[in-house]
Amino acid sequence: LPRVLSGIQPTAGSFHLGNHLGALRQWVALQETTEAFYCVVDLHAITVPQDPAELRRNSLVSAAQLLALGVDPERSALFVQSHVPEHLQLSWVLECLTGFGEASRMTQFKDKSQREGTAGTTVGLFTYPVLMAADILVYQAQQVPVGDDQRQHLELTRDLAIRFNGRFGDTFPVPEGVIPEGAARVMDLQSPDKKMSKSLPPAGCIFLLDDPKVTAKKIRSAVTDTGREVVADPVEKPGITNLLTIHSTLSGSTVAELEERFAGRGYGDLKKELAEVVVDFVTPVRARTQELLDDRAELERVLAAGAARAREVAVGTVAAVYDRVGFLPPT
Ligand code: ATP
Ligand code: MG
Repeated sequence: LPRVLSGIQPTAGSFHLGNHLGALRQWVALQETTEAFYCVVDLHAITVPQDPAELRRNSLVSAAQLLALGVDPERSALFVQSHVPEHLQLSWVLECLTGFGEASRMTQFKDKSQREGTAGTTVGLFTYPVLMAADILVYQAQQVPVGDDQRQHLELTRDLAIRFNGRFGDTFPVPEGVIPEGAARVMDLQSPDKKMSKSLPPAGCIFLLDDPKVTAKKIRSAVTDTGREVVADPVEKPGITNLLTIHSTLSGSTVAELEERFAGRGYGDLKKELAEVVVDFVTPVRARTQELLDDRAELERVLAAGAARAREVAVGTVAAVYDRVGFLPPT
């Protein structure tokens, strides 16, 4: 079976619709046909300032949400990144293969470091994409389900795999992104020029665990565009296009069908129906997440089993890599 790896940061308690539509629904689908490793990437989460108690809590809430969304721990290894130290062992080796200029070109670093300011920008934020490459390569993964914003990091991962193989002998498959056709980049409802993000102001972000009343209100107050026709047009109508994409991906209607259905009606009707579609989706996810969080011992057992399964693979990769780069074996 092809191997799959993906991760999600526990930077907020809740995931958002972009995470689900761009990445997590693919995580669930890929379990059918692959051997999957899915992790809550807490090591990545400390690249920006965090509160320790909140991070611990958010890691559990993240794991519970993944299960609620359909990650099946019987089929896939579900674990917390910091429980598998081999990610860091491989990351160091890859850092020593990454050019400083190459890492400096990463646009996510440029965006996030601008937000943090010079004083708040850490070396960890800079090397984030290399750790991500290690996350993927330590499982020798062939497929990586992610949203559109991760294309550049994936390209770096592929380059590092090729570089390592070239220098030290064939070790890593060169992984492919699994990026969905629709909804690979869900936009913020208040700023449709920015991707929806856990680390932006929450007003335009539809969190899965928000109170449904809050969700409906956020959708009703989404920024729309000039004109009144409900038609998809990414340039002239980025706000409406985003709402149509979300509706279409969740409801299964095509954008063309939605345009036809809303012909002659206004933006308000679209928002009202979209609020219903979204609330119907998140309500059971929210309830199931809470149920899973109520049995913390069971959740921790799932994560421990996942980490053990992950380490079975990761330990072997690190041993092979350490040997190939010339480290003297212990004993
Ligand atoms: P942060 O703002 O802390 O970086 P995030 O919302 O970008 O959080 P991540 O944990 O970085 O979330 O990403 C998890 C997955 O969700 C990745 O595969 C990423 O590509 C995907 N993703 C994130 N935002 C969106 C979005 N707006 N649309 C589609 N996919 C997204
Ligand atoms: Mg992100």
